[in-house]
Amino acid sequence: MKKIIIAIDGHSSCGKSTFAKAIAARLGYIFIDTGAMYRAVTLYALENGAIPSGVVDEERVVKMLRDIEIDFRFNAERGASDIYVNGDLVESKIRTIEVSNCVSAVSSIAEVRAKLVAMQQEMGRRRGVVMDGRDIGTVVFPDAELKIYMTADAMVRAERRYKELTAKGDKVTLEEIYENVVSRDKADMSRAISPLRKADDAIVLDNSNMSVEEQMAWFMKRYEEALAK
Ligand code: C5P
Repeated sequence: MKKIIIAIDGHSSCGKSTFAKAIAARLGYIFIDTGAMYRAVTLYALENGAIPSGVVDEERVVKMLRDIEIDFRFNAERGASDIYVNGDLVESKIRTIEVSNCVSAVSSIAEVRAKLVAMQQEMGRRRGVVMDGRDIGTVVFPDAELKIYMTADAMVRAERRYKELTAKGDKVTLEEIYENVVSRDKADMSRAISPLRKADDAIVLDNSNMSVEEQMAWFMKRYEEALAK
């Protein structure tokens, strides 16, 4: 059976990971959440003094890179892989608002991107992966057989993330989540290296008013078309 690379890029908090995970489970593919990798580097930088008072010290982050080992281990209960930094499980620690507020600055550092992109390319070498991020269809796998560019209304996205975080017990306001979503979009789209943009051959999926089932039906049609090419 032919296996392909499915690249899913798009705005923050529009359900890319949920969508990518569901697709991977359906197809028996490996799901790779590249945002988690940028978050893991950011968490390490926060915990090791490279982001004093919320300001990213690029030089320190770059120096730190050689001390950061990232790996994914499959968690059968979640049906997806958890992310580990130097052997420590950090899956839930990387999803806080503190990490979200610093991750765009960390991910705009060239050396950070070079290290993580090389890891991602290695993980997709044998194809059969669904990878979600910001630059998968443009930089990591420009030759991906199927590229999807996801988006949704910014307030709809903020409400979804707000529900997720408050359900976990995080004390956050809808306003701060909305601001984070909008400012991350802006930072991700305007950075000098690998900005978020739709690849010319990507198909747009606006899921503002779509259920997970509707998105899956939409996807399966595109997947069959991509396989037939
Ligand atoms: O997908 P998620 O929102 O968890 O990603 C966190 C951040 O990591 C993004 O806002 C973006 O700054 C960065 N990122 C990136 N390139 C990727 C994936 C994520 O720059 N491929």
